[in-house]
Amino acid sequence: MIIFYSPDIAACPELSEEDSGHAVRVLRHQEGDEITVVDGCGSFYNCVIAAAHPKHCALQVKSVEAEQHWAYGVHLAVAPTKNLDRIEWFVEKATEMGLDRFTPLKCRFSERKELKTERIRKIAVSAMKQSLKATVPQIDEMTDIKTFICEPFDGQKFIAHCMKDEPRKLLSHEIKAGAAVRVLIGPEGDFSQEEVALAIEHGYVPVSLGEQRLRTETAALASVHTIHVVNELKLTE
Ligand code: SAH
Repeated sequence: MIIFYSPDIAACPELSEEDSGHAVRVLRHQEGDEITVVDGCGSFYNCVIAAAHPKHCALQVKSVEAEQHWAYGVHLAVAPTKNLDRIEWFVEKATEMGLDRFTPLKCRFSERKELKTERIRKIAVSAMKQSLKATVPQIDEMTDIKTFICEPFDGQKFIAHCMKDEPRKLLSHEIKAGAAVRVLIGPEGDFSQEEVALAIEHGYVPVSLGEQRLRTETAALASVHTIHVVNELKLTE
């Protein structure tokens, strides 16, 4: 099944130039064909092609269905890796698994202090389509960790770090089913002691992801998976 994306479909039932080209030129869709379009905000639109124009493919909406979305928000705030491919890989895979929001963090030991979010947004959109979802994760601009930590958040807050001598609980043991979750993942050089202390001061629980020392993008993806698995297990208990 192929899904198209049109964020403005409710107001303007038409595919974007890129998706029009894909539908009409590449897939050879014609007037009268049925296609599914998502708005990125949780709705599937079952449509019929009204005019198979290769740049402005017009649609007639037949019905709208709401996505079955997980009940808890999954928000990962991650220090982007020096190598861009790795953080892009994370966004693609996390979107497939179920991510609601991604905030790139600027930390004391960050090797990457800038990030072009436009490309990351495109990757998130294509991962959403590929995994047949109707919601695209919110992608924030790079944010300084200190500003971010001070932001209010209504849910569970965790900071994952690798300082073995500091007290940490296991993330999988701490997650409560049904609650929104926010996890902070640090750069290649980890968080500074000061960043961890500030997070704890603001209600973040310091956590371990297990004995293995993971790369930033692996730790971030493992956290997303853990949140879903724990919720699935607890919600079906
Ligand atoms: N340079 C550090 C490793 C940093 S790994 C060291 O030598 O120990 C990068 C980030 O991944 C960390 O900041 C942390 O957020 C996360 N991470 C990786 N493995 C982890 C684990 N086992 N427990 C908790 N966090 C982990």
